[in-house]
Amino acid sequence: MAEAKHAEEGMRTHENVIFSCYGGFSNTGITSALACLEAVKELGLEKAAIGCLAALPLGIKPVIGKAAAAQRIVTVDGCPSECARKTVEQANLSLTTSIVLTRDIDMKKKPLHEDIGQGVRGVMEYISDDEVKRAKELIIKAISDGAN
Ligand code: SF4
Repeated sequence: MAEAKHAEEGMRTHENVIFSCYGGFSNTGITSALACLEAVKELGLEKAAIGCLAALPLGIKPVIGKAAAAQRIVTVDGCPSECARKTVEQANLSLTTSIVLTRDIDMKKKPLHEDIGQGVRGVMEYISDDEVKRAKELIIKAISDGAN
C-alpha cells in the first residue's frame, strides 16, 4: 500500500530529478557525479535531487514514483555510451534534457586504468575543477530553462 503511494504521479517531491551516470572508471563519469552534486547544493533540495539510477532497471517503486512525479528529469552522462539516458528511457520515464559531457562541454574521456603500472595518480588529479563547474552550470541552465 505504501509503495503504491510512492508511485503516484503528482505527489509532492523534488521539482527536478537528475540522473547521473557516475562511472568511476573514468574522469567523465566522476565529473558527472560531482557536477550533479554541486548543482543540487546550489539549487536546493526542493528544486532538485539526484535520483538512484541503479534502482530503475530493478523496478524499485519509490524511486520510479519520485522520478515520475517530478516536473522534469535531466540525465547527465560522461561519455557517448549515455548510460543514464538509456537507463531512464528503458524505465519508460519521460526525459526532459540529456547532457553528455564529451559532447556538451567537449570533455576528453580518460579511462583511469590506463596509468596503472606507469604512474597512476590520485583520483582527484584526473578531475578538472573547471570541467565540474562548466558541467554544473549546464545542469542548472537545463533546469532553469525547463522552468520557463
Ligand atoms: S556514460 Fe560513459 S562515463 Fe558514464 S557510466 Fe556510462 S560508460 Fe561510464
